[in-house]
Amino acid sequence: MNNPRILFWHRKDLRIFDNQALIKAFSLSNAITSTYILDKNYSHDFNANSRAWFLGNSLQELGNNWEKMGSRLVINEGDPVLIIPQLAKTIDAKFVFWNKSIEPYEINRDLQIKKNLKEKNIQVIETWDHLLIEPIKIFSGSNKPYSVYGPFYKNLKSKMNLLDSYNQDKVIFQFKDIDNKFKENKKIKSSDSVLKKFLKNIKFSGSNICPCRPGENAAETLLENFINQKKIYSYNSSRDLPSNNGTSFLSASLRFGTISIRKVWNATLNSDFESHEHYLSIETWQKELVWREFYQHCLFHFPELEKGPYRKKWDKFPWQNNSEWFQHWSNGETGVPIVDAAMRQLNSTGWMHNRCRMIVASFLVKDLICNWQMGEKKFMETLVDGDLAANNGGWQWSASSGMDPKPLRIFNPYTQAKKFDPICEYIKYWIPELSKVSNSDLLNGEISNLEKNNYSSPIVNHNIQQRLFKSLYAEI
Ligand SMILES: Cc1cc2nc3c(=O)[nH]c(=O)nc-3n(C[C@H](O)[C@H](O)[C@H](O)COP(=O)(O)OP(=O)(O)OC[C@H]3O[C@@H](n4cnc5c(N)ncnc54)[C@H](O)[C@@H]3O)c2cc1C
Repeated sequence: MNNPRILFWHRKDLRIFDNQALIKAFSLSNAITSTYILDKNYSHDFNANSRAWFLGNSLQELGNNWEKMGSRLVINEGDPVLIIPQLAKTIDAKFVFWNKSIEPYEINRDLQIKKNLKEKNIQVIETWDHLLIEPIKIFSGSNKPYSVYGPFYKNLKSKMNLLDSYNQDKVIFQFKDIDNKFKENKKIKSSDSVLKKFLKNIKFSGSNICPCRPGENAAETLLENFINQKKIYSYNSSRDLPSNNGTSFLSASLRFGTISIRKVWNATLNSDFESHEHYLSIETWQKELVWREFYQHCLFHFPELEKGPYRKKWDKFPWQNNSEWFQHWSNGETGVPIVDAAMRQLNSTGWMHNRCRMIVASFLVKDLICNWQMGEKKFMETLVDGDLAANNGGWQWSASSGMDPKPLRIFNPYTQAKKFDPICEYIKYWIPELSKVSNSDLLNGEISNLEKNNYSSPIVNHNIQQRLFKSLYAEI
């Protein structure tokens, strides 16, 4: 078959550079048309205003890039189980290429699509792209999927030294567009208006202040800034300080695949360090990238994580789920400054610093005694990087219901603030009504009524709630 027509389906890989399935497709033919489907059954990609913004703008850039390369990105909305086979047939594709996913819904959906395409005699070619290593290629000594991060990291790191980094500078894509006879097809003609409507309906007010930036170009810039401005060298000391901007802000880019995880990993190998301190910082950042990897592998091997706790005893925990308290937490009105600052950062920008994610998660679960799944849902409804595997992993870690072998971890929000926001820069930025309060009063939670400026009193007492939580935990 000479230069067969190919349909390329973009999913969590909204980029051209170092896209494994695209490279493979191009090695077979240059007659490639691409598509993205706003999947009506999978709202995770756009059910937060921040993610809809990130997705819409990334798609716009991706579409322009396809046009520059001589072809197009056809955007549709609906059910991919129906649309992918229809579209493939419409453009007379002999092959459909995509990169594999790890989420339970996506895996089942893809199986159904493969079946439908097979019936139409269209071949599917899938590759792994979203991960450093295929989940079926890394197992523990007893040949089981890892359920503990430490040994997973060790094994993965040793394998990474052997990573075949693909030098894509050598590949210059030039594609051949579909024939004129297909251009009039309804599904293809409506593509522009689908994206226009999607972009028009975005209601995200934090687009100027969200530190994550949509599109492939912006992802490259974020990575370059992190490396060239030498933030990677001080990551160890600054990553835990929420006022410091010491992290990469690449989470949404990695979640939507506007940058390749291999490129990000390779950047850690290529950065020249000058001291042991620099080396340790780079290693710490690598460890964070491996946390991402670990949670993706966990969800792939243990799809039941999506539905509930990994440790089954947590099914019996007597959550109190006080909806009023939950609302206060959600709005950043608990009266505990570090918690409220963090939730306000999330609500305004669509992003929250990792240290603060751990603090607010611990507070919701262990002080307010609300089921961690309520927090997981709120995060998915708000986070620009909201990702089923990472979010679920983060919440189960914080709730102590997940893979982490440590028994019970309870954060004291006041101690956390003293350690990680000692001069209250972060707190005062996000809660300006407290800007005149002395740092020591703020950190001890002793704000006088005169200085409160309508800021609420703490809705709970940490010590009392901690005792209560521990007694409820003892019961299970
Ligand atoms: C309760 C909770 C919920 C979370 N939900 C999400 C989520 O939905 N999506 C998400 O991408 N991250 C999530 N995280 C992890 C982490 O908070 C973010 O990845 C990080 O804050 C993103 O900022 P950054 O890109 O500047 O990270 P950097 O510090 O620069 O780290 C580099 C990359 O490593 C990955 N990473 C870093 N820390 C973690 C971690 N603990 N777990 C998994 N991956 C990590 C991210 O892809 C990140 O972009 C969650 C953490 C917690 C505690």
